[in-house]
This record gives sequence, C-alpha cells and structure tokens, in this order.
Amino acid sequence: MNVQPDLEFIRELKTAGGDTLKKCFQCATCSVACPLSTESKPFPRKEMIWASWGLKDQLVTDPDVFLCHQCGDCTEKCPRGAKPGETLGAIRAYAYQQFAWPKGLAKLTTSQKNLPILIGLPAVVILVMWILSALVPGTSGLHIPSVEAFAEHGYQQFFGDWSVMFKWYGKNIFFIALIMGVSALIAIISCWMGVTRMWKAMIANAEIVANYRPSLCQFVGRFLWPSLLETLQHKRFKECKTNSDRVSGHLPLVLAFIGLFLATCWSLIKNDILGLIWPSLHGPLAFFDPIKLIANVSAIAMLYGVWILWKNRRKMEAEGRASNTFYDWFLIWEIAAVGVTGLLAELLRWGGQPLLGYFVYYLHLVTVMMLFLYMPYTKFAHIVYRTVAMCFEKYRTSSFVR
Ligand code: SF4
Ligand code: SF4
Repeated sequence: MNVQPDLEFIRELKTAGGDTLKKCFQCATCSVACPLSTESKPFPRKEMIWASWGLKDQLVTDPDVFLCHQCGDCTEKCPRGAKPGETLGAIRAYAYQQFAWPKGLAKLTTSQKNLPILIGLPAVVILVMWILSALVPGTSGLHIPSVEAFAEHGYQQFFGDWSVMFKWYGKNIFFIALIMGVSALIAIISCWMGVTRMWKAMIANAEIVANYRPSLCQFVGRFLWPSLLETLQHKRFKECKTNSDRVSGHLPLVLAFIGLFLATCWSLIKNDILGLIWPSLHGPLAFFDPIKLIANVSAIAMLYGVWILWKNRRKMEAEGRASNTFYDWFLIWEIAAVGVTGLLAELLRWGGQPLLGYFVYYLHLVTVMMLFLYMPYTKFAHIVYRTVAMCFEKYRTSSFVR
C-alpha cells in the first residue's frame, strides 16, 4: 500500500493532545486494556497506527474513534507513554472541525488565543440587544430596577417590559428567544450538517450496501432510542477502571442539564406566556416551588459534576496520563462559568442587589450563549457525534444492510 501521510493533520493532532502518538510501537496492549473494544473490532491500536501514518480520512470516518469514552485505561497501560486515549480525543476534536459548519466559527474554538473573541462575540451581541431593547417605543427598557421592582420581577424584565402595550408575548422572552434561539438554531443546523456528513462518510468507508432504508420510526426505535438510553444510564462509562470517578462527575452533569432545561422551559411558559394572561402566575418562582427546587438542585449538581471532572483532569495531567489541552479545558471552564454565574445571580436576587445582580445575570447570559453557539465544535459535540456513532454501530450489524 502506498501511504500518503497528511503531515498537516499529524501536526494538528499533536497540538490537540496527540503529541505522544509517535512513541507507539504497536504492541496492542491498549486494545487489550480497553473495556469498550471488541474482539472483532479492537481499538485503539489501529487508530494509533493510522494516526502516525497521517491517515486523516480513515480516522474521521472510523466509528470507534467516537465510541471511545476517553476513560484513560489504555493510556494507563501503554508501556511507551503514547497516551492512546488522548490521541483519540485529539482525533475527535479534529473530526468535529472537519464536519463543522460554518468553518470559521469552528476554527475559532480550536485555540486559546481566540478566547477574547469567543467571549467577546456573545458579550457584544447581548449588550447590543440590551441597548436595543430600550429603543422599542412605548416600553421601559434600559434600566436597572429599584430594589422593590427587583424583588418583584427578578431578572424577568432584564430586557424591559412591554406588557402595558402588548401583553401577549413578554418582551424578555422575545429578546431571550431571539438571542438563544438563533444561537441554538445555528448549533442545530451545524450538528445536522455535521452528522449527515459523518454518516455518509462512514457508510462509504465501511462499504456498506443497504438492503433497504429504515423509516424514521425504525431508525429511532432500533438505533437512536437504545443509544440514548445507554448514554443516560452511563453503561459504557461504568466499564472504565482507571478513571472510575468520572461517572460520578459526568452523570450529575447530564442530569443537571436535563433539570435546568425543564425548569427554564417551565419558567418561560409560566411567566412569559401564562403570566401575561393570568397575572398571579407572574414573578420569580418561590424558593419552595418544586420547579425552583429542581433548578437549584440541578445547579448544585452541575457545579458538583464539573468540580469532579476538573479535579480528575488535573490529577490525570499531574500523573502524566493526560495532556493539558484547550479542547479539554474549554468545556470545563464554560460549564463552570454557567453554573457559578447562574447561582451567583440567584444569590444576589435573594440579597436584593439589582445592580450587581444585573451584571452577573448578563455574564450568565453570555456563558449560556457560548454554550449553545460553540456546542457543535467543542468537546460538548460528543453528545451528538458519539450518539450517532453508537447508532451506526447498531445499524451496520442490522438486517438493514448486507
Ligand atoms: S499506544 Fe501504547 S499500548 Fe497501544 S499499541 Fe502503541 S505502544 Fe502499545
Ligand atoms: S480511552 Fe478508554 S475507551 Fe478510549 S480507547 Fe482508551 S481504554 Fe478505550
């Protein structure tokens, strides 16, 4: 076989955490150690070989790269210190960039030196929106509320209020939906384009010939739902031995995101839709409101989960089992910032500090927008890409293909 190594690809892998890959002498200890590797399709040794040869196309279409849960068992056992788990992480980071749309935005998320732009972009968008919200005629906009108004409305009038002239749709929900909705839409389109490209490339690479095409219901029932269930139950995470603490960080984080999503949806419906028809429903949720309790428990679970992951990462780096990469740390910082600003904003509301509260709430919106907007290009993307790889794993051994 005439191998044409992609040197640029090898260079990028090295900067994204695969700096040790050339140490590999192909002993296969890692494939034996990996709890997720199967006898018929072992990994990550073959990926280490492909990576050292620079076989970019082979790697980004390899489902095993995405099925790896970065547990570190292989890295722990590798006699050469080649850190195969980290190399697979670097390949995933590279693959997200390859499948991503728009490429410019994706490229920004690859380097720490772009951090001022990554933070500045949502910070400017939200600030401009806050100023623009004041210019809507006949409404109260650009203002910091009095202590009394703050106690009554909390952050529900951050972008002002137009209920006097138009009560059917809250001004706050309009601006929040505009900012977060557009960010989420970009993320959804990007993920859709990314996984569609990945799926087609995997089919082509595995030379799969379909017997017939599954319907949407068949796809969800046979492949997607079992994969999601497996992810929620953290079945594969629990196979991990070396870094078994990860599940106690990752699981609360996943549950926290679900809890916060539900609480946010209910709060929006209650305050900004139902509250405009039945004013008694308006106002921040009471401390002992069940939804508020879910939100607060979720926020604490988020901070706890991210603290465990933070601690684990530091420990692994100190022991030389992981590399210090922007790709790994960006998501940890981002989630920690969302949790800290969210909790602090709430404490300031209880403490009756509108000025500081509004500023911290602004920072909170910035961090949430970052989470949505950069989701398809950062480590967060594994939620989508790994789930699709799990679907593909089930699909290729199903009766749908020859
Ligand atoms: S990465 Fe390490 S354990 Fe795996 S084949 Fe290479 S040298 Fe062996
Ligand atoms: S990091 Fe864990 S899951 Fe990934 S290849 Fe290594 S042992 Fe397997």
